[in-house]
Amino acid sequence: MSNNNIIELLKNEPSYRYTQILTEAYSKLIDDWEKATNLPLKLRKKLKENFSLQVNGKIIDSGRTDCLKAVIEFEDRILVESVLLRHKDGRNTVCVSSQAGCVMDCLFCTTAATGFIRNLYSYEILAQLVFFQRVLGKENKRITNVVFMGMGEPLINYENTMEAIRILNNKHFFNIGQRKISVSTSGIPTGIKNLADEGLQLNLALSINAPNDEIRKLIMPGASKYPLNEILDSVRYYFEKTGRRIMFEYVLLKDINDKEEHAIELSGKIKDIEGFVNIIPFNGKGIYTKPSFDTINSFKSVLMKQKINVTQRYEFGSDISAACGQLVFRFN
Ligand code: SF4
Repeated sequence: MSNNNIIELLKNEPSYRYTQILTEAYSKLIDDWEKATNLPLKLRKKLKENFSLQVNGKIIDSGRTDCLKAVIEFEDRILVESVLLRHKDGRNTVCVSSQAGCVMDCLFCTTAATGFIRNLYSYEILAQLVFFQRVLGKENKRITNVVFMGMGEPLINYENTMEAIRILNNKHFFNIGQRKISVSTSGIPTGIKNLADEGLQLNLALSINAPNDEIRKLIMPGASKYPLNEILDSVRYYFEKTGRRIMFEYVLLKDINDKEEHAIELSGKIKDIEGFVNIIPFNGKGIYTKPSFDTINSFKSVLMKQKINVTQRYEFGSDISAACGQLVFRFN
C-alpha cells in the first residue's frame, strides 16, 4: 500500500480519510477492507481493488517461542526475513529488513552472499510489522520496539525507511515511541547526517566492526569506501543534534579484529563519543570463526579499562540464523 498511491486515490476525498485508512491498516490491522465500516462503501471497494491487506508470510519453526523468524514474500516473489524477539521483561522487538539483499558486501554477513536485489518500499517494511503484530495480537500483545538490523542498509533506502518510521511512530497507527526505534547502519555519513536533521529521537547503531580502515576494508569492502574518520564525524554530529547515545556494534571475528591492540585502537577512536560498544561474537558460518571465551573477555576488559561502556549481545536467535547480519531468505 504505497503512500503516493493512497494519496492519489484519495485526491477527491476529505483530508481525514488518509488517517482513517492507515488507522484501519496499521492500528486495527484489518485483513479485509470490508471490515472498515467507517469508510464509504465506494471507497472500500476501490481500496479492495487496489490495495491488498494480506501479508504473505510464514514462520520458520525453530522449536523456540522467544525468537521467531518469518519469511515474507512480496508480489514480485521477492523474499525477505524478519525476526520477532520476545524478551523476558515483556518487550517484543521486531528486527526488520529494509532491502532484499544488500550492496554492502560485508564478508561476515549471510545477507551479503545473496547480493543486492532491490530496495523495499515503505509498505513492504511495514508489512513485516503487520505480520508480527497479527501474531502478537492473538495474545493481546503489541510490538514494543523496532530495530532496522535485518537484511539491507537502511540509510541507502532512506526515503522508504523514513516513511516507514513515521508511520511506526504515528500515534494513530503503530504508536511506537521514537526512542524504541533503532536504525543500524554500516556507516553512510550523509545518511547519518540526514537522520540527525530529521529532528527525531531515534537510536543510532553504527556497525563499526573494526578499529581502522584497513580492517574495515578487509571485512566490509562495500562500506569501507567511507573513511572511518568521516563516519565517526557524522556520528558525533548525530549525538550533538539528538543527544542519543550511539551504539557501536562490533562483530568479533577470531584473529581478525579481536586482539587487545584492536580494542585499544578502537577506544582511542570513539572515547569522545557518548555511547557504548555492543560486542557480538561471530555466530555464523563461512570464512570466519568465533573467538574463544577468553579472547572475548579480554577484548571486553581492555575496552572497559579504557573507560568504554561495553555490552555483549545475547545471541538471541543464532540457532535460526537470526542474529546480527545473519538473516538470509530461505522459504522452507
Ligand atoms: S552486515 Fe548489514 S550492511 Fe553488511 S552486508 Fe550484511 S546487511 Fe548489509
